[in-house]
Amino acid sequence: MDKQDIRDLLKDFVNNDAGNRVSGELALRPDLEGLKLLEPPLVGFGESGDPAFKTLKEPEVVGSHFMLPQEWLEGAKTVISLFFPFTAEVKASNGADMNWPSDEWLHARIEGQDFLFQACRHVQGFLEARGFSCLIPSLDRRFTSNISGAREKSPAGGKNRRLYYTSNWSERHVAYVCGLGTFGLSRGLITARGMAGRFGSILTSAPFEGDPRPYSRYDEYCTRCGACARNCPAAAISLTEGKRHPPCAAFVDSTMEKHQPRYGCGKCQVRVPCENGIPPARRPIALRS
Ligand code: SF4
Ligand code: SF4
Repeated sequence: MDKQDIRDLLKDFVNNDAGNRVSGELALRPDLEGLKLLEPPLVGFGESGDPAFKTLKEPEVVGSHFMLPQEWLEGAKTVISLFFPFTAEVKASNGADMNWPSDEWLHARIEGQDFLFQACRHVQGFLEARGFSCLIPSLDRRFTSNISGAREKSPAGGKNRRLYYTSNWSERHVAYVCGLGTFGLSRGLITARGMAGRFGSILTSAPFEGDPRPYSRYDEYCTRCGACARNCPAAAISLTEGKRHPPCAAFVDSTMEKHQPRYGCGKCQVRVPCENGIPPARRPIALRS
């Protein structure tokens, strides 16, 4: 068994399993029955002893509450990080109206996430059948996700209390360590297949060689073009302050009021230079006032 076996397994599952398509029972519109949600994932491998995981415990990165791979799974040797891009149809639909999430995007955000977990469990079954132990942190009973706060310098020189979401296993930070990409101004992760999609991960006792990180800075792929900030209906992103979570969360909550149990937004991930890949060059675009 090698890394390509895992990639092939996932590609086959994503392309052929019916769970990756909207069922007639759940479709928000009749024409959405059969809509494909996710593309086969980019797969990054990280060795659980990589010191980069420890840096995620630093307060300015994730924090001391971040649990290391071995704290989740005794004997963990490898972290398998996955980025599933949304399909072109899902992305295009969300770019058609920049004020409200499309039905396709809502399906991809919710049913797509459910399917992502199915894909993770599929890998888990494959590895366990070969005698290795596995754990999916986001599905573990110890997984927590909270709103938190920190004092930080404001652009004016004072100190503000800044609120942000944090969890004891951050898929995007783990993907960064596993070589899948770097952070953008919008706090999404820019990968070789862009930013619009979902992340997941699996821990296993199976030993795989870690993939290289082809970057040296946490935000290396972001051009700071400002397109994500211009797209944001909640004015939650700016070149000076980056992303502020409270206005983003309030907007996403407002979509929940209308679409419960679904919700979403993702306007910062579509019609941007990092939607489908790494932006080619720094191309500043003036922000609207
Ligand atoms: S849209 Fe531009 S500024 Fe925003 S994350 Fe992408 S590259 Fe960075
Ligand atoms: S998800 Fe929507 S509200 Fe939140 S930062 Fe992105 S564009 Fe703004």
